[in-house]
Order: sequence, then C-alpha cells, then structure tokens
Amino acid sequence: MSMFCFQCQETANNSGCTVRGVCGKSETTANLQDLLIYVLKGISIYGLEVNRFERIDNNIGLFIAKSLFATITNANFDDERIISLIKEGLDIKKRLKERLLSVSIQKEFFENIPDCALWYPENVDDFHEKAKEVGFLSYLDEDIRSLKAFIIYGCKGISAYADHAAILGYEEQEIYDFLMEGLAATTQDLSINELMEVLKRTGKCPPPVELEKGEIVGGFAHHQVLALKNKIVEAVKTGKIKRFIVMSGCDGRHKSREYYTEVAKALPKDTIILTSGCAKYRYNKLDSGDIDGIPRVLDAGQCNDSYSLVIIAQKLAEAFDITDINELPLSFDIAWYEQKAIAILLALFHSGVKNLRRGPTLPGFLTPDMAKVLVEKFNVKPIGEVSEDIKAMLSGN
Ligand code: SF4
Repeated sequence: MSMFCFQCQETANNSGCTVRGVCGKSETTANLQDLLIYVLKGISIYGLEVNRFERIDNNIGLFIAKSLFATITNANFDDERIISLIKEGLDIKKRLKERLLSVSIQKEFFENIPDCALWYPENVDDFHEKAKEVGFLSYLDEDIRSLKAFIIYGCKGISAYADHAAILGYEEQEIYDFLMEGLAATTQDLSINELMEVLKRTGKCPPPVELEKGEIVGGFAHHQVLALKNKIVEAVKTGKIKRFIVMSGCDGRHKSREYYTEVAKALPKDTIILTSGCAKYRYNKLDSGDIDGIPRVLDAGQCNDSYSLVIIAQKLAEAFDITDINELPLSFDIAWYEQKAIAILLALFHSGVKNLRRGPTLPGFLTPDMAKVLVEKFNVKPIGEVSEDIKAMLSGN
C-alpha cells in the first residue's frame, strides 16, 4: 500500500484510497499531507506547554489552521506548497522547543514527548521517507484509529472556517488552542472513552460573529428564517406544519445523492425543509410550494451558516417552551462529503442534537464498533430507502 486516506465520503469502497485518491490526490501528496499533520502534532505538544506560562503567538495557531485546511479534500495538491508548510512547521516547532528549554520546565516533559515532537529531518529526502510511516495506519488499533481520525477531520473542518474568518479579520485564540489540544490528543495513549470526550469538545466552537448584514435570494443565515418565526409558530400550533426536516450539508457527483431529491419530492406538503450548504442544489429547483406563505424550503445559506439552523431550532424550542431540542417536531437528514461536514456534525452533537441520518454513506473511517457507539450515544444512522426514512422521520425516528 503506497498511501492511505479515508477522510471523505468518496473514499474507495468506503474504506480508504490506497493507490491514488478517487479525488485525484497522488500518493506523494497524500503522504506529504500526512507528514504535515505529523509536524503539526509536534508543534501542538510544545505549543500547549508554552501556553502554560505565556500565550503563544496567534500566528502559530493560524499556521496550524492554514496547514490543516491545506489537507482537506480537494484543497491543495501542490507538493511544493505542502513541503514549504512542513519546513515552516519544523521551524515553528524548533522555536517553541527552544523557548521551553530557555525556561525551567519539568524534566519529565522532555522525557515523555513523542516522536512527532522530536523528529527533525536533515533534508527533503527525509520528508518522503518519514511520510510513509506517519499516516493513519500508524495507529494500529482500528477503533482508536477511527476516533483519532474523527478528531483530526473535525479539526480540519474547523480550520477551514477559522482560516476564512482570519482572512476577514476575525480570530479566536480558543479555537487555535483547541486545534492544538485535538492534535496533541491523537499522540497520546488514550482510551476510547477519553477520545470520545475529546471528540465531543471538537464540536464546541464559539458561535460565529456576524460580519455583515444583507439579503440575498435563497436566504441569509438565520435572520431571513427567523423573520418568519411568528408565522411558523402559528402554523405549527394550528397543525398546518407537522414537521421540519433539516436537509443540510454537501452535494457530490454520485447518483446515490438523488436520495435527497426524492425525499424532498416525497415529503408531505405539511412539512418544511430547513437547509444550508450545497446539499440544497438537489432539490431547491423543485416547485415545493408554501404553507400559508411560508416557503416549504427555508434556506439558511451556506454550510458555514449551519449554526443558524441550531439557532432556529433553539428559537422554536423557546416559542414552544421546550427545553430539549430533540422534543421539537424536527428531524435531521444530512448529506456529507468532506471534513467541514464532519466539524458541523460534531457541532450538532455538542448542541445536543440526537437522532439524525447521515448519507449517502456513513464515514468510511468509522469502524463498525465506533459506528455502534455513535448510534448508541447520538442515534446517528445511515440513510435507507426513501419512503421508509420519511415514514420514520414523520414518526420522530
Ligand atoms: S480525499 Fe477522499 S477521495 Fe481523496 S484520497 Fe482522501 S479519501 Fe480518497
């Protein structure tokens, strides 16, 4: 096997791309991306320790976010760029280590650090050699590998949004710190339960800050939808709206995604679809009609507006005096493709959402045992046959 990548929904046989990515990613690029993540883990180990006595520069957090973003699906196949990020990362790692050596740090810290913090290559040839041994297959236990992948992919998704926010002038130290915490956790010998705790924290991002106001056709975050709140509440009370189905997420090229078009077509006319992200392109051209002037497809915007759907659900819960979001007449039937959707899934878990469908397939990086844990803890299930899924969602399952 020359490479191993199982981070997206199109991974070969839903288990892993091992020769060349279905996306076109080469073996060299895949391995260099693994090495970049390895270097980021080393930075994180030193960075967290420096953070204990002085704040590390935000530029280091931003570097981690940019580098993780460079490794998400279809973001960057430029080997020279990945190599230059690895070199920059090695420099940062060295500076952080020197800072620690310049102050009085417990000897045990340096006695217990893993290879990702200690590794310093002599030249770029060393990069290629090392890259072959530091990917996900280096985690030998499949369940541990599965959870560590889940954490890293969640961090990648967060990084895509964090990098974008930084370009717009908004940065959160808390997010950068968590990226280091998540990466460092994947270097430790943690149990399944301990990793589950880290995974839960991965979904706890500070809410986004509104950068501008405006209106566009098709929705603009939660404001457009909340403007209809009173009408919506009234329609629920009078029984004109029976259920909301959240069909957010990613689109993709596979025929299996027609499932979402078919669900949208077959949902009863007294249901409302709440959407965000490009999943909507599977059904937003259908003539879905309205319920007393409320469009049956309410669009919160792009995938980074998915947080708006949680706000909408919380506002509806307030209106109906419900404390548990899961008691609302609301079902989640979400499509995913890459790692931003993993971050959003984790954010939904963190918001207390349970009982959701995920398609067109469950992530290939989930082992059967870890998929079972997700079912038990969050009632996540794969999509099935359209009419059966609709029947189940309408009855609250
Ligand atoms: S990003 Fe997806 S398609 Fe590309 S190599 Fe990884 S798993 Fe395969």
